[in-house]
Amino acid sequence: MTVKHVLGISGGKDSAALAIYLKERHPELEVEYYTCDTGRELDETYELIEKLESYLGKKIKLLQAVKPKLETPHDNTFDHFLAQYGGYLPSSTSRWCTKKLKLDPFENYIDDIPTISYVGIRGDEDREGYISKKPNVQSIFPFRKNIWSEDVIKLVLNPKNIKQLRQYYLQATDYNNHNPGLAYIDTPVSENFTLKQKLNALLDVDTKLFNQAVFQFLKTTNYPVGKLDSFPLIENEDVLKLEDVFRILEVSGIGIPAYYIEKKYEVEIDGQLKQGRYARSRSGCFFCFFQQKIEWVWLLENHPALFAKSKEYEKEGYTWMDEETLDDLEKPERVEAVKREHYLRTQRNSQKRTTSTWKDEIIQAEGVGCASCFI
Ligand code: SF4
Repeated sequence: MTVKHVLGISGGKDSAALAIYLKERHPELEVEYYTCDTGRELDETYELIEKLESYLGKKIKLLQAVKPKLETPHDNTFDHFLAQYGGYLPSSTSRWCTKKLKLDPFENYIDDIPTISYVGIRGDEDREGYISKKPNVQSIFPFRKNIWSEDVIKLVLNPKNIKQLRQYYLQATDYNNHNPGLAYIDTPVSENFTLKQKLNALLDVDTKLFNQAVFQFLKTTNYPVGKLDSFPLIENEDVLKLEDVFRILEVSGIGIPAYYIEKKYEVEIDGQLKQGRYARSRSGCFFCFFQQKIEWVWLLENHPALFAKSKEYEKEGYTWMDEETLDDLEKPERVEAVKREHYLRTQRNSQKRTTSTWKDEIIQAEGVGCASCFI
């Protein structure tokens, strides 16, 4: 049975680092790389994809929801669907963009082939992301201690499957009843011992043993991983965090995508000129509605043409942010207020935390969004 292994390159740091990591750690995996082009990415994203292609020695397949016009190869995808939606801009509550521009092209590309999709959500994140739920697609998270998706965990730890899981534990440990994981397997999920706690307990006792048991279990299901003779990721015990991702990018020579690199800004606070720092915290479309106000200000000051282009999309009643238009946001007094608020907030946060504020900002911003756009 052919099982496809794929990795979506969003243009962000985590998917890029995962591509490098898998090539180095698991060269035996025949991974196909793809990227879904919305036509409204930052130039830095296209540059990152070019660099990755040369590092991986492979083409990254460009998936476009609409056939591009030759003279504007990156230009017409988003606009095509915007016209279909009557100019209705996407938002966090109506995210047609992710579905039409990312998920649909991906699902068309893999068709009905059993597919393992590697997702770069890190070990210091607590989210699953907006991922394909097609039954022939299984997501694997190599940067986390728990490499399995929520649906797999719920199935494997379902009370009706516990006997089977116990059996795999016993087989893997030569029927040695002293394995401490067995006690956790037998403990039912309750208010005092949630599914998450049960999972973490089993992973903490012996990650490889748990993964082996899950692999055996999947062989009795239709999940793509279960169709493989062997799966090297079950031996995985790595947990990679934000600093590891930056390290991987730097060591590989690919470098951190340029929009993550902080720039200085000045702002007046109580009559004194202070110096703050801002950057973009995510990849994705330059006008993405998930971005924070300070990121809009960053766009205005670092990519004024893209800010102007974003403004062109705002029509009566259709704006990127709920409470203000880009016309209002770009007024000097408003820009100053956004910087002031950002400066004071980052100062407060840096007093509370021990890690760097820049990384905190990225982690906070990642709380929302999706695995398709910002990984
Ligand atoms: S980056 Fe933002 S605007 Fe672009 S497709 Fe993703 S959610 Fe939509």
